[in-house]
Amino acid sequence: QTPQIGVVGMAVMGKNLALNIESRGYTVAIYNRTSSKTETVAKEHADKKLVPSYSIQDFVASLEKPRRIILMVKAGAGTDAVIQELLPLLDKGDVLIDGGNTFFKDTMRRNAELDKSGINFIGMGVSGGELGALQGPSMMPGGQKEAYDLVAPIFEQMAAKAQDGAPCVTYIGANGAGHYVKMIHNGIEYGDEELIAESYHLLHDLVGLSVAEIADIFADWNKGELDSYLIEITADILTRKDDLGTGKPIVDVILDRTANKGTGKWSSGNALELEIPQSLITESVYARYISMMKDERVKASKVLPKPAGKVAIDKKAVVEMIRKALYFSKIMSYAQGFEQMRIASAHYDWDLDYANIARIWRAGCIIRAQFLQNITDAYEKDPKLQNLMLDDYFLDITKQYQESVRDLVGLAVKAGVPVPGFAAAISYFDSYRAERLPANIIQAERDYFGAHTYERTDREGSFHYPWYEEQ
Ligand code: NDP
Repeated sequence: QTPQIGVVGMAVMGKNLALNIESRGYTVAIYNRTSSKTETVAKEHADKKLVPSYSIQDFVASLEKPRRIILMVKAGAGTDAVIQELLPLLDKGDVLIDGGNTFFKDTMRRNAELDKSGINFIGMGVSGGELGALQGPSMMPGGQKEAYDLVAPIFEQMAAKAQDGAPCVTYIGANGAGHYVKMIHNGIEYGDEELIAESYHLLHDLVGLSVAEIADIFADWNKGELDSYLIEITADILTRKDDLGTGKPIVDVILDRTANKGTGKWSSGNALELEIPQSLITESVYARYISMMKDERVKASKVLPKPAGKVAIDKKAVVEMIRKALYFSKIMSYAQGFEQMRIASAHYDWDLDYANIARIWRAGCIIRAQFLQNITDAYEKDPKLQNLMLDDYFLDITKQYQESVRDLVGLAVKAGVPVPGFAAAISYFDSYRAERLPANIIQAERDYFGAHTYERTDREGSFHYPWYEEQ
């Protein structure tokens, strides 16, 4: 049978996506720059409807028209190189889908360039890691809508399915919208991971629990409103013993340095560019950076003073405070993430549908969680919701939990346990609900030293104060 779709890039993600599509009844053409990889995949899966090609010309020629080609190659120069090779071989109306972790502005550029030759270009965020790619990822495609309609039947079959059976894929918007939403997904993922790490830190250093006890607490939290993939794997991770035989929990021998591939930084950078408060993701990026300064931290730990004395706590009460702070801060983080998408949607002209975005994050992706249903419900009730915390459900949580977050951040500061995520969450909350902020002082200073003028509370217009005249 003529392959209905092709995949370029036979590293782990491309191979697994190809196998996923094949498992839904399609014949899939496969190609990789290094032929031996294509050969290995074809040999390992000789019983499957995979059609290997060893030249890009054969690969393109093997496909049903209009051609549908997924690129699953190293993002950046790799994607450009493959596009340049494919371009002379493609016809008007063909659909190229970039499933890599591509920066959304690259996708906007490629979409516009390829559009000139009549080639449709879809930038699609794919989340769920290698297992997700194989069994069903969450997919965020953006580009020409008519082109998406040509691939939608295949994508809806290969995507993860939420509890209500809905596929975790939807058309996101024009040009770079899909990769943008994937970037925000990854930024939010940084935030979730940071908040979980701070919770673990407090349970360990402030409450004084063992790794095994903390594992039980995370497993317990996973049965309630925090129910999510990342809490679930954290509980599992904390039960695991070192595989190199020290007898210790594996987390105790893993070095405290978190690397990154840059998607959190992209989210924060874009928030700065569009002038959007995005403190949760940004603090999470900084937390990774400071974690990497291990040598400096070790030296500083011997010089800089610790807090005086121990903090007396009621252990059980503090565990519950941490749970509440985790949920509250997660809500602040998603509120910021959705706020960023709302402003970006207007800026880049995407008309994003927030209920649909939350809906396709309910399964398949790394941030999948029960509470994404609450976000879906909130935006279904009010598609123009200004900020997630103003929705009734989330408003109620802030009413119930804010005092616990304040108490916990106070305790953490007193005990000297860093909580950049929790502190950013409560500060964002307090800033957002403030009728009056101290910005008047800054504006006065700007007017004083730079004649930048100021606005008044009692009349229209811009004013400059005669700071250098005697009164
Ligand atoms: P890699 O990111 O490691 O990329 C390797 C693949 O890219 C190989 O097939 C390689 O071909 C190809 N490639 C690199 N440079 C070129 C080039 N100049 N010309 C042609 N082909 C090139 O593979 P992954 O499978 O990990 O990821 C693929 C994409 O999916 C990436 O964009 C990644 O960010 C994204 N992604 C990855 C996830 C993951 O969990 N790993 C999750 C979600 C998205 P060759 O064999 O010839 O070197």
